[in-house]
Amino acid sequence: MEASSLCTICGVSNARLCTTCRSAAYCSLECQQADWRTHKLLCRKFKDSSMSNFTARPSPKHYLAIYFPMTTRSPCLVWVDSKEDEHEQGYFNPELDQLLVVPGHNRYIGRNLLCIRGNSLRGRKTNRDTLNIWYLDADPIPNLITNQSLHGTTPTLIGDTWGEFIWKGPLVAVMKAGSTWDPRLLMDITLTGYRDAIDYLGYYRETIGSMIDGIGMGDHLAKRVLADKSGKVWGVRINCIGDQARGNPELVPVAVPNTHPLFNLEGDDPLCIPDLLDWTWVAKAYVGKAQSNTGDVQSDLENPLARLLLLQTSVEDGKWEGLRPWWHDPNIGSILVVNRRGGDVEVGKVKAMCKFIQQKVFPLMTDERAIALGGKQEVLAAITEENLALFVES
Ligand SMILES: [Zn+2]
Ligand SMILES: [Zn+2]
Repeated sequence: MEASSLCTICGVSNARLCTTCRSAAYCSLECQQADWRTHKLLCRKFKDSSMSNFTARPSPKHYLAIYFPMTTRSPCLVWVDSKEDEHEQGYFNPELDQLLVVPGHNRYIGRNLLCIRGNSLRGRKTNRDTLNIWYLDADPIPNLITNQSLHGTTPTLIGDTWGEFIWKGPLVAVMKAGSTWDPRLLMDITLTGYRDAIDYLGYYRETIGSMIDGIGMGDHLAKRVLADKSGKVWGVRINCIGDQARGNPELVPVAVPNTHPLFNLEGDDPLCIPDLLDWTWVAKAYVGKAQSNTGDVQSDLENPLARLLLLQTSVEDGKWEGLRPWWHDPNIGSILVVNRRGGDVEVGKVKAMCKFIQQKVFPLMTDERAIALGGKQEVLAAITEENLALFVES
């Protein structure tokens, strides 16, 4: 089986390549979403570079690499030249003199190399090819500052990993063909390699190494962290009218990786009414805001059940607030619901919650109650486990 058909995020086989870059594979939309914040920084650029492979590649010895500059905010793709080793025929080294530099420092700085052969967090114990990350010896160098493309953006690329070690100076990730001890030939980097680079650097600890590959994988803390972060829980996809018309059921259980952004604070969008019952559900749209926010109503992006779940019980200027501001657009599209604290969300529970809101809570949210003293309290008083239980199908 081709390594590229293993899911970048969870490692299951038969994953499909990203249709834009064709350089990272995903088993599901949920896994693709889990990678998106990182992947989107290079996806389109990768497509442009690989499309123009034959014209843009400066020479047959140049290969695509990922450069993490010290002072700019995001990583970029670069062509790196390679040179045959003086002492060993058929062994090629990347030419990194133009990239591993620190402004104001002209003398040669020592370099370190990290070799990454697998990613245990992503269920890929051994990859087909080897990732090499080159970085500079930090200590005696002036002007060597924290790497901005890894740590400097908000949220940082390292932000959703362990994030203990601060990387300084520029870094370059290149790929070598094969997974033997010391592969000889360079190849173009893949965006699965990019994911692995972020994970490796993000789960790196100074004396022990990275939790995701090599010896750093073995100790107690690493095992605990990985057990916590790897794996999946069940969420529920609520399909919009359009996705239902394409043959998908209204509610579908989906396996969601624990590294999905909804499990981090960043994606925090608690659902108001479930939250009042201490059901810590959060929702995320599948369609990006930019895509849906065209101004006009596309009825196939309408999602009545999502609309119920997203309903808020707050009052503003004598009116019920309705949906959270982010969701005011009628083009909600399909959404994913997970439990922020982990654990599974069942289809039956989502069904019951929607019915409860539709038949019990929403009818109470009248114009009169929005302005009446204690009107809101009356609505809140109806939101109880006992009332909800009436809508659970046995
Ligand atoms: Zn997956
Ligand atoms: Zn892509």
